[in-house]
Formats: sequence, C-alpha cells, structure tokens
Amino acid sequence: MKQIGHFINGEMVAGASGRTGPVYNPATGEQTGEVTLASTEEVDVAVAAAAHAFPAWSASSLATRTRVMFAFRDLVESHRDDIAAALTAEHGKVLSDSMGEVSRGLENIEYACGIPRHLMGRFSQQVSTEVDVYSVRQALGVVAGITPFNFPAMVPLWMYPNAIACGNTFILKPSEKDPSVTLLIGELFAEAGLPAGVFNIAQGDKVAVDRLLEHPDVRAVSFVGSTPVARYVYETATQNGKRAQGLGGAKNHMVVLPDADIDLAADAAVSAGYGSAGERCMAISVVVAVGSAADPLVAAIQQRIPAVKVGDGTMPSSEMGPLITAEHRDRVASYVEGARDEGATVVVDGRDQKFGGGGFYLAPSLIDHVKPGMRAYDDEIFGPVLGVTRVDSYDDAIKLISESEWGNGTAIFTRDGGAARRFQVEAQAGMVGINVPIPVPVAYYSFGGWGNSLFGQSHAYGPEGVDFYTKAKVITSRWPDPATSKVDLGFPENV
Ligand code: NAD
Repeated sequence: MKQIGHFINGEMVAGASGRTGPVYNPATGEQTGEVTLASTEEVDVAVAAAAHAFPAWSASSLATRTRVMFAFRDLVESHRDDIAAALTAEHGKVLSDSMGEVSRGLENIEYACGIPRHLMGRFSQQVSTEVDVYSVRQALGVVAGITPFNFPAMVPLWMYPNAIACGNTFILKPSEKDPSVTLLIGELFAEAGLPAGVFNIAQGDKVAVDRLLEHPDVRAVSFVGSTPVARYVYETATQNGKRAQGLGGAKNHMVVLPDADIDLAADAAVSAGYGSAGERCMAISVVVAVGSAADPLVAAIQQRIPAVKVGDGTMPSSEMGPLITAEHRDRVASYVEGARDEGATVVVDGRDQKFGGGGFYLAPSLIDHVKPGMRAYDDEIFGPVLGVTRVDSYDDAIKLISESEWGNGTAIFTRDGGAARRFQVEAQAGMVGINVPIPVPVAYYSFGGWGNSLFGQSHAYGPEGVDFYTKAKVITSRWPDPATSKVDLGFPENV
C-alpha cells in the first residue's frame, strides 16, 4: 500500500508519529494508501524549515520570484494529465472535472506571476518641502494553509502561489482524505527552482492544525473547509495573535424567475447541483422556483437526471463520480430519506440506482417542496441532492436568501435585466451569478462569501490574497537638496 508522507525542506519525509489515516480510491472502495498524520514535533520541524528559509526568500528579488513562478506555471501546465489522474484516483471526481480544477488552479499561479505589479506601492512626491511619502508591502513570515478534500489541487493553489510570491514561506496542511496530489505539485514547485524550506507540506489532522494555530512562528493562517472548523480555526488563530481567514461551508440558492429560459435554467441546475457529485462549496443546493416557473422547471430537471452518467471518474463516459467516503455517501443518502419524513416530495431518489462493487456511489436525487426548518434545507448536504423550494414572488426569494445562515454564492436566472440588476444589489452573498450558476471569480478578483461562509474579512486569492499575505508600511522621507537647503532635518511642521 502506498505510504504518503510529508514534504519538508525540499524533501519527501516519511512520517514518524506512528499515526496514519486511510486513503481510498472512491471508485472501487479499495484502500490504496496510508497517509501519515503529523505529531506536534513534526509540525515544529516543518515550521523551523520555513522559518529558516524566510530571510533569504523574503530578500530575493522580484525577478527571481517571478522566474520561479513562471517555471512552476509551465511545469504544472505540462503535467496537467498526471495531476488530474492523481486527483481523480483519491478524490473520485471525473477526469474532465479534475482537468478543470487544474485549470482553475493554474489561473492562480498565473496571477502570482504578476507579483511585481501586485506589490507596487504608491508614491507621493513633495508632500511638504523636500518630503516624499511612499508605501510598500512586506511579507509576513511563515504562513500556513489548511485545506479541504473537495478541491485538493485548486484550493491550496488559491493560497500558496500568492503567499510565496509575496516573499513568505508556507506550510500546507492538506486534507488527509486525498493528500497525494499536493505532493506531486509540491515537487514541481521545487523543480521550478524554489529553494528548500519555502514550501512545506505537513500531512495530518486536528493535531497538526492545532499546532499550526498555536505555533508562535506562524504569522497567518488561511483555512478553507466546513463552517464549524472554519469558525474554530479563525477564533483560535486570532486569539493567538495571528492574521486569519476562514472560508466555511455553504448552501447556495439559485433563483429562477417565471420569465427565465427554463431549459437553460434546468441545464444549469443539473450541472451545478450534481457536478463533482455536489461536493463543491459553490454547488447549487437549493433551486428557488418563483411562481409559475416551478412545475416546468422541476419537470425539466427530472427529465435530465437519467442522462447524468454516474461511474468511475477515469472512464470518459462518466459525468459524475463517487463521493469521497462510504460514511459521507451514507450521510448524504440519509437526507433523501429524511426529506420524505419531513413532508417534502422525493421526485428522483438516487438510492434507486444500484452500483456493483464497493465504490462510494450515489446517483442524483431531486427533492421538491423543501422548506426552511427541514434538515434537507437547513443543513449543508454536500452531495448530489438538489432541493427545490417554491416561493410566490421575487421578494420571497430574496427573503429566503437573506435569512440563510450562509452567504457564499447565489444566482438568478431571468430574461429581465431590471430584475437581475435588483438581485445583484439585494442578494446577501459574496458572489452572485446572473444566468451563471457557479459564479467563482477569476483569479484577478477574490473569492469569499458572507455570513457563516467566511470568518474574518479577507477573501481568498487575487488582490485580497496579496493584501492578506503582506503588511503595509508607509515611509515618510526627507532628503534636503544640498544646493538650497539649510540642512534642517527636524520633522516639518506642516506635514
Ligand atoms: P473539513 O472542515 O472537515 O476539513 C477541512 C480541513 O480541516 C482538513 O484539512 C481537515 O483535516 C481539517 N479539520 C477537520 N476537522 C478539524 C478539527 N476538528 N480541528 C482542526 N482541523 C480540522 O472540510 P472537508 O470535509 O474537507 O471539506 C468540505 C467542506 O469545505 C464543506 O463544508 C465545503 O462547503 C467547504 N468548502 C468551502 C469552500 C469555500 O471556499 N468557502 C471551498 C471548498 C470547500
């Protein structure tokens, strides 16, 4: 069985804690690997390597950093297929989704290639006689990232390319459920010329996370994962004096107005609800059908579900793969059972489709008449279960979204520009789509939700990522002109 270790100080390191976690191929249910789970002492070794590498890396020229980032970008591009295969092998998503994930990750490396531009400060000449003021941004030191299972390549790439390009050194604690892909990408970063110790991967669970949250040399923590852990990480890190951002779970609503193109909306609901088996924080999990849109929309979604081919992610014919573990599959399935008990209508029951073998499969389910107060509405299911909530008006739809505890993404489908414009103003969410079901911002904007989808104020990647990984400094400088000055270096009274 494959032994999955750490990557510390430029080298693969076997775990020494004696604790391990199982890694599965979700398509077969077979355990394919064993990941080491770091002890506190092993995390300390990783932090020490990063702390040792920081002075030289933070002093490296922007030209050096840019060259490394471009080389890294090219290596990831040329290893797309290997990365996608490693991703599908442990996560289970279909290869086309894995390739898409690599592309979205690459965007973030490409953004980091522009770091000389992103770090440019401002300069004000002659704010007073012979006095100039300018601003710079400086690296923080050792920073850490803790990431979820569902995008094991892309979500880490939201963090470390920008952090490292800014001059920081980095410890990544990936999900223990699919840890291999990140090692593969880490090796490519080293091959690109990144000095040892600048990027380190410590595999682990809560023990490793807790050590990162309390370690005095870790200056900032980026977290992406479920809401309870995001809250815990944010609160603990900030109590320990660290800068923190905690991106949490979600329950995203897609509003369909009666004037919408129902076929377009149904296609979007199917791809955004069941793509990657619904294991996306930007998945659509509730379709809010307004007025007369409801009956034709439910019928159109129902009609499309049998065409979603569920199977092994490595098979080109598969459109939806298995879930991450057997426990998670069973938990997701329990919402279908529960919804019926709570009075909703199960239009399509994914449990009816049987799969041979031990893979963690669950076919798409569609549940109509889901309402607040039902578990299927209130909880983040994180699987291929799409709920439909029927409301009478646009205002009712807006109220539903406003009252949700989460506010990651939301979308509207309509042909009415005025309604769409109102929605973009009134929707209580950090990312809004108009006739676009999954409005994940491109790498030169930033990603983040509202409510319990984000703890802290800093969104991930893009300009906010660069701000998060740097401290601002403003310099006020006086250099008298020797030809005219009386050489009075006292602070000017009129500044
Ligand atoms: P998770 O919260 O279980 O795990 C995330 C990370 O936290 C992992 O590295 C895990 O090892 C660690 N962890 C888990 N429990 C911990 C604990 N008690 N103490 C300290 N660390 C702990 O999340 P997951 O199941 O891997 O991922 C799915 C969740 O992530 C969903 O809720 C999804 O919505 C969310 N997510 C959010 C975003 C976003 O951008 N907002 C993006 C992707 C995923």
